[in-house]
This record gives sequence, C-alpha cells and structure tokens, in this order.
Amino acid sequence: MLRLKSKCKICRRYGEKMFMKGERCLGPKCGSTRRGTRPGMHGRAFKRNISEFGQQLAEKQKMRYTYGLTDTGLRRVFTEASEMHGKTSEKLLQILERRLDNVVYRAGFAISRGIARHLVSHGHILVNGKRVNIPS
Ligand code: ZN
Repeated sequence: MLRLKSKCKICRRYGEKMFMKGERCLGPKCGSTRRGTRPGMHGRAFKRNISEFGQQLAEKQKMRYTYGLTDTGLRRVFTEASEMHGKTSEKLLQILERRLDNVVYRAGFAISRGIARHLVSHGHILVNGKRVNIPS
C-alpha cells in the first residue's frame, strides 16, 4: 500500500484529481491545481510521448492508487476476476468495490479510502454485529 506524505503528488503525476485525501482535491491545495507539472526535477522539462505500454501502466497504477492496493494484491484480485464467468474488467471492479474499506468510504463514513481503511483496521466497523479489522 502506498504511504506518501503528499498524496496530491499522484494528482500531479497523472494530471487528474485522484481524491486520495478526499476533499483536498477540490480546494486550492491540490498539487495538480497549484502546479500543473509532473512531480520531480524534470517535471516540466518537456511533454513526453507516452507509449501504448506506458498508457496501460499509468491506468493500472491509477486503479491501484485509488483502491490502495499493492501490485501483488491487485494481481491476486485480477487472477480471481479472470477465473470468474463474465467480463474480467467488470468482475475486477465488482471485487474491488466489495472491499470493506471501499464500502465504508462509499457509505460516507470516511472522506477517503485511506481513512476508511484506518477505521476498519482499528476495529471501528461492525459487520453483521461482529468486529472486523481486515480491509479486504
Ligand atoms: Zn489532489
């Protein structure tokens, strides 16, 4: 899972609002609003031509950041999805959306998935009357 001091760096990286810290992205503090360049020393050096592979990698990484998964974690979910009946892409999203931390976030108990995950792991959420502390 990703631990960054500046989550809006991800917004700058992809030039999109990723809402890693909830409403922060709506205000002026979001990195992509403050500085519209990619992070790092060469962030504004030149406009890069992104290859097909680079494009696909970027999309995968964005999905990974959104749901706060590791590469291995996402791979595991993908394998599970590809073994199910139906479209793998749809199944993949279904599994990801069913994660407890995501449900807590969608239910509006937390302003970001990161905070939702924290609530879950500290046992603040009851599922069917039982304490759970696993975000997945
Ligand atoms: Zn942001």
